[in-house]
This record gives sequence, structure tokens and C-alpha cells, in this order.
Amino acid sequence: MDKKILVTKSFLPPFEEYAEEIRGLWDTHWITNMGEEHEKLETALKEYLGADHICLFQNGHLALELSLQALGLKGEIITTPFTFASTTWAILRAGCIPVFCDVLPGTCTLDPDKIEALITERTSAILPVHVYGNLCEVDAIQEIADRHGLKVIYDAAHAFGVTRNGVSSACFGDLSMFSFHATKVFHTIEGGCVCFRDPFLRDPLFRIKNFGIQENETWGIGGNAKMNEFEAAMGVCNLRHLDKQIQKRKIVAERYTELLSGRPGIRFPDHPADVRQNYAYFPVFFDPETFGETRNAVSVRLNQAGIFPRKYFWPCTNDFEFEKEIWKQQGIPNLERVSPDLFDPSKTPVAKRLSEEVLTLPIYGDLDLADVDRICGLILDRGAI
Ligand SMILES: *Cc1c(COP(=O)(O)O)cnc(C)c1O
Repeated sequence: MDKKILVTKSFLPPFEEYAEEIRGLWDTHWITNMGEEHEKLETALKEYLGADHICLFQNGHLALELSLQALGLKGEIITTPFTFASTTWAILRAGCIPVFCDVLPGTCTLDPDKIEALITERTSAILPVHVYGNLCEVDAIQEIADRHGLKVIYDAAHAFGVTRNGVSSACFGDLSMFSFHATKVFHTIEGGCVCFRDPFLRDPLFRIKNFGIQENETWGIGGNAKMNEFEAAMGVCNLRHLDKQIQKRKIVAERYTELLSGRPGIRFPDHPADVRQNYAYFPVFFDPETFGETRNAVSVRLNQAGIFPRKYFWPCTNDFEFEKEIWKQQGIPNLERVSPDLFDPSKTPVAKRLSEEVLTLPIYGDLDLADVDRICGLILDRGAI
């Protein structure tokens, strides 16, 4: 096999453009600690995302974990198990208990009809994920949160640039976290941010990523999760190319859709007409009964041809074998108070089924349509290898 095709390929701006962007750093020698590129990126992102306030972080995971701490959240947080491990680990590492709610089969996001039954006097927040960039049922979720006095924190790691009726994904709930990891639609190599509406969150979020220090004064206990100038400069460059890249991804997604839709046993997520997508991922669900083959069998055939889709997200985060034991040993607060079936994946059957049927196919701006044709051929033709 000549070339490998991975699930994604990080975009890089023209070398000269990046070199120009970082040239000033050789004059100032100010290469981290909220310098000029950091400020430039914050301003550009606030505008692009339509956010009231933004705080940049070293990565999306720390942005989420530290935000939960900065908000002072305690007790139980209702969340989805159909996500990257980071979402669940952030809740646990912030000292809270994840309470898993099932998802909708169409958008794979939190099922609002199943949230209320999980609310107890210990619940402090809802933490849904705009998985694959599919927007959650934001109105229904907000209505439930308001009725019960809960915070809503979005893991918007996949939803950069997604809008609904022109309203940005950064504008829902109390706070939204975006990841700028190299594998995401918009990246700063490593990086992330949170967007929020309440100006009173500005100081706590800034301090928690900077050792509790602000303007040379120490206000409390904090960690270190600052974004450096080289990463910020990468973001400044990449943002200029983003809309074009999303356009190119759209063409790839449309080709997949054209070649795979209507095939028995193959299903895509639902995309409501009022949502502008970012084509971050191209998940396909294979129903083994109707398709006649499991997702794993399709994956093996593609791997043999040098094509490496991913099983995002398998297993569900309430289905890791090691969890219960390790968490007991580490003394996660209140774990003994939590119902023993907390990490029972059969409680979230829709999520479990999605995770067993999904394969996220390669997608990125520069993916050749000829390769998309070849991938679809391999998926549909069982005798291809
Ligand atoms: C990528 C990702 C994260 C973590 O972001 P990093 O920037 O890699 O730390 C969190 N949640 C989800 C759903 C992700 O896909």
C-alpha cells in the first residue's frame, strides 16, 4: 500500500505566513504568559465565535476541568457517556460524580426527556457534548436547568464554527469549552478556550490557569494551563483559513453522503436544517443485521487497504472495565454514596448501541475525492480485499 489515510490530517498554514506571524517574538522575547499573539487570538476568536467573554487555555481538557473548579461545582453532574474520555475524566478530576444520561439516536446528543429523572438534591450541573459538532437540544436543556437551578456547561470541543439560525455554539449555557487540539477543525497545535456570558467569571477563570495569580497578586490556589505565543500565533494563522477548510470538508462530506446514503444498514446522524455544520467528523453507523457485517469487519477491511477510520466513541465512558476499581482505590469523593449501577452501560442503551455501530471515516480539507470514492467502494464491496 502506497499511502496511509488517517481519520484526519492537521491543517497547516503556509510556512511563510506562520514565520511572519512569529517574527515579532524574536524582538520581544515574550514567548508565553499572555503576550501579543495571545491577545490577538482572543480578540479574533471572540469575534469569530460571537462570544461575550473568552479565556484561552493550554488545551481543551484543562479548560473544562478547571472551569468546573472555577465555578465551584460540587456533587453530581448529569452528562453523556457517548463522548471522548476527557469529558468524564474532567468531571471526576474536578471532584464531582458523573451521572450518565442516555442520548438521542438522531444527533447522538443528550436526550432531554431522560434528564429530569436523574436530578437529585446533589445535582449541580448538566454537562452535555455537541458530539461530532451536532448541536444539543439546547433550548430543552436550558429549560430544565432553569427549572432546577442547575448550571449548564457545554463540551463544545467538536463544535467550533457551528451555528444555529446564525447563533454561535459559543452562546449556549453558562459556559462552553472548545478544543484546539491538532486533530480538531480549528487548532493551535494544542490549545482550547472557554466562552461565557457572566463577566464575573473572568477573574476566577484567569486565575485558575495562572497559579491563582493576577496582576502580581496571589488570589487563591490555581494551576498552570496558559497558552503560549507560538500556539496562539498558529491559531491566528489558522483562523484565516478556516472557512475555506470547512467549505472543502463539506465537499468531502457530500461525496460520502452521495455514495453511501440509501444503502441498507448504513445510517448517518440527523442534521437539522437550521444548523450550519463544520464537518469536523464523518460518522457512519452500521447496523450489523441489515448491513450484514459488523462495524469492526468494515474497519478491518479498510485497515488492510491502509485506511484508518476511528471508532469514535467506543467504548462509552461508562463502559471502561477498569473504572470502578481504580476510582475506589483513588478515593473519588462520595463514590460510595453513588448507586452501584452508575457505571452500568446497559442504563444508556442508545449510547451503547451507537458506540458499537459507529465508524468515523477520514475527513479533512485536502482529502482527495478519488480517495473518498475508494473508501466507499471498500465499504460497500465485501470482496474488495
Ligand atoms: C478533543 C476533546 C477534548 C479534549 O480536548 P484537548 O484539547 O485534546 O485537551 C474534550 N472533549 C471532547 C469531546 C474532545 O473531542
